[in-house]
Amino acid sequence: MEHLTDIEIAQKTTLIHIKDIASKLKIDEDDLELYGKFKAKLPLDLIDEKKVSLNNLVLVTAITPTPAGEGKTTVSIGLTEGLNKIGEQATVVLREPSLGPVFGIKGGAAGGGYSQVVPMEDINLHFTGDFNAIEKANNLLSALVDNNLQASDNLNIDPRSIFWKRVIDMNDRSLRNITIGLGGTANGVPREDGFNITPASEVMAILCMTSGFEDLKKRLGDIFIGFTFDKKPVFARDLKAENAMTILLKDAIKPNLVQTLEKNPAIIHGGPFANIAQGTNTILATKMGLSLSKYVVTEAGFGADLGAEKFLNIICAASGLSPKAVVLVATIRALRHHGGAATDALNKPDVGLVAKGFANLEKHIENIRKFNIQPVVAINSFINDSIEEVKLVIEGCEKLGVKAVVSNGWTNGGEGCKDLAFAVKKVVEEDRSQFKPLYDWKSPVKEKIEKIAREIYGASGVNYDKKAELNLRRIDRLGFNNFAICMAKTQKSFSDDEALRGRPENFVVTVREIEIAAGAGFIIPILGKMMRMPGLPAHPASENMSIDENGVISGLS
Ligand code: ADP
Ligand code: MG
Repeated sequence: MEHLTDIEIAQKTTLIHIKDIASKLKIDEDDLELYGKFKAKLPLDLIDEKKVSLNNLVLVTAITPTPAGEGKTTVSIGLTEGLNKIGEQATVVLREPSLGPVFGIKGGAAGGGYSQVVPMEDINLHFTGDFNAIEKANNLLSALVDNNLQASDNLNIDPRSIFWKRVIDMNDRSLRNITIGLGGTANGVPREDGFNITPASEVMAILCMTSGFEDLKKRLGDIFIGFTFDKKPVFARDLKAENAMTILLKDAIKPNLVQTLEKNPAIIHGGPFANIAQGTNTILATKMGLSLSKYVVTEAGFGADLGAEKFLNIICAASGLSPKAVVLVATIRALRHHGGAATDALNKPDVGLVAKGFANLEKHIENIRKFNIQPVVAINSFINDSIEEVKLVIEGCEKLGVKAVVSNGWTNGGEGCKDLAFAVKKVVEEDRSQFKPLYDWKSPVKEKIEKIAREIYGASGVNYDKKAELNLRRIDRLGFNNFAICMAKTQKSFSDDEALRGRPENFVVTVREIEIAAGAGFIIPILGKMMRMPGLPAHPASENMSIDENGVISGLS
């Protein structure tokens, strides 16, 4: 078979007009805000809370991933195609890709092979401008802060205490730490500043948590900026920033409708990082999907210890969403890795290593069950998986009472995901999941952190660096103890040491510092070093891209 790249497969597909996708969801053409022929924004009044609770939410997550990614987006899209193929109306709801990874290492985030969302180039590039709007809202607040420093009747903000940073959607390490306001009295107050990448902006986190315009305004106003010289906290509302910031987000708040390769509906909206933020699309987009179709398949970033834990304890607890099933994506390649395979031997079949690496999958299965949700394992099939290895995983799962199904969406779209679709449908119809969060937001901060570390990571305890202890006191002083916990940890291990593969035991995790995202409603314990502004590799993906005389793009992956 001829091997086509993702973009070649996407470009060979004939798209249908977005109004025809909308009509599958019974949306009137007049209700669509068209962005050309293949993209549209959906008005928020299409959300119907009654239908949200009646229809079925399926969360796709994964075992501890290798750097290549285990195929959550690909499986989410394939499963949606599969459900539609077996006669169950389904919509996939995903995050918007960031330009950082598109031009850096990982590439786009619109699925892969024969499980993709299209128009692929648009989705991976500027799309409907949401990221631009978020960047502008974030940077408006920065401009207001610096303008206030300059004003004579100002808030007395101590420029050395300002946490709020500027953002841009690009991997650009040279902007991490900068000096601004140089050039004399007319040009601002000199201070240290820096840029984060747009998915790391608290405005992004807020947009993904919000329930509507009033709530958005309140959350933006609650953003914590820093302190005055007399140590009083300063919030965005003190600068009267929240209305203007919300105005900039008036369209970005609306979910975007596109299509899958098999012409099923896809809603793509919001894109917070999964390491330092919540790593899922907007709550509004998920509710929109559930208002319009019987099944919604959505994805949470990285492994289940980060993505699913935060989806369940933060997103579901805040919004009332409640998944009827969780799909745990596993690859044989990653199980070999967790069994101890060398990096250059990941594609070589080895039953022994898979048997050893199975412990990682087993722990993730146990974790999902702690939320009282029944998991289904999707083995995302790669060409060099051996029959013995796959059999071992299926039988291992069977012993645990879990159905494991081979997923062939990458090579065969919906047809390759029918078995997975039947397995998910069965779990949903048997009504075996009664979601309950792992912790109560109202319990003490340390108790919440310990619960996640012990129960989900399998740690024997939690250490706090001096800085983290000071941060805890500040959180207490500011009255933020009731916030959700948004853990920031490496995705490469259950522990905070990325070298520990499989199912590590007898380890302690260390909280180095704890950040505050008061508008988003969570605090962020940081375990290890977290990147908020990635850099480009020596040979970035951008080098392999081209565009021809007719504007046709190649090399975007
Ligand atoms: P995740 O969402 O878990 O990060 P993606 O679905 O984005 O992972 O997939 C990561 C990369 O792996 C993509 O480039 C995708 O095309 C590729 N991929 C996914 N599944 C397969 C598969 N079964 N065979 C080969 N490549 C795959
Ligand atoms: Mg993904």
